[in-house]
Amino acid sequence: MQLNAPLDMHLHLRDAEMLDNIAQASAQTFSGAIIMPNLVPPVSTKEEVVAYKKRIIKAIGNEKFTPYMTLFFKPSYDKAFLESIRDEVTAIKLYPAGITTNSEGGVSGFDVDELRPALEAMSELNIPLCVHGETNGFVMDREAEFVSIYERLATAFPKLKIIMEHITTKESVVALDKFENLYATITIHHLLITLDDVAGGMLKPHLFCKPIAKRPEDRTALLKVALKAHPKVMFGSDSAPHPKHAKEACGCAAGVFTAPIALQLLAELFETNGASIENLQAFVSENAQNIYGVTPLQKTVTLEKKAFKVPSAYNGVVPMYADEEIAYSIKEVTLG
Ligand SMILES: [Zn+2]
Repeated sequence: MQLNAPLDMHLHLRDAEMLDNIAQASAQTFSGAIIMPNLVPPVSTKEEVVAYKKRIIKAIGNEKFTPYMTLFFKPSYDKAFLESIRDEVTAIKLYPAGITTNSEGGVSGFDVDELRPALEAMSELNIPLCVHGETNGFVMDREAEFVSIYERLATAFPKLKIIMEHITTKESVVALDKFENLYATITIHHLLITLDDVAGGMLKPHLFCKPIAKRPEDRTALLKVALKAHPKVMFGSDSAPHPKHAKEACGCAAGVFTAPIALQLLAELFETNGASIENLQAFVSENAQNIYGVTPLQKTVTLEKKAFKVPSAYNGVVPMYADEEIAYSIKEVTLG
């Protein structure tokens, strides 16, 4: 099985030692990725974007990989500022305040008039808005509650491309088809697990993430659009590494590390569900190319149906399915 130019449209590469430890895991197999800006402090100036991109390029070493950079949304961004950074960023990421790792400086109200100057400028400059869509309500309801905010934004800014990041609910899937300018990324872990896998038996800290995995009917709704490669959905791993001690702790950090095994798991998932390789190809690359208007560097990943034992850790970061066997292996990655 061959995949061309796979793209990860939602990736956390972190910074400093963690960046150096995990960047190659994505760069080895993906052609490029949308890099999330939630560092401490968040990436919110041109200098910070340029410098972070340099650190990423350094961390990936000899691998060929395009980091598509993003900025951390602030309502104070004006058109002059956005014009000045247009060439450096592929998208801007909006976090509601305090909802996930390093999102303290995010947006707290969703007053359309307050957001209008920044979002209208983004719309005019054709900069997509990526959104972590959760309210601060009850943990299982946060995303569904946020759908009305998506609808408000989609209506108020009809030319703005709004990406509902890492959707986990049937409500978000319904919203996709209601508004022309709403799109979505879906992770591999939300296509595979439900809350039962996280907390139904012994607690599994390495499957704990935000948004938390939901109910079986939510997963079914996600599978339906992913497996048929609905043109408005694309793969975004939300691979989010934390050191082992931060996961296996009282006060477990949110995030699932899937970057090194994402393509293998996707291959298995599509095969198990009888979905075609063409659909997988669209889900991991073409849809994203169409939505974002990007042309990725050419890379061909050959996968084979051969059991792969997932390592217990990658440079101190425990991946999903650590020490377990998965059905597919990466056989070869070639450029061009
Ligand atoms: Zn994320």
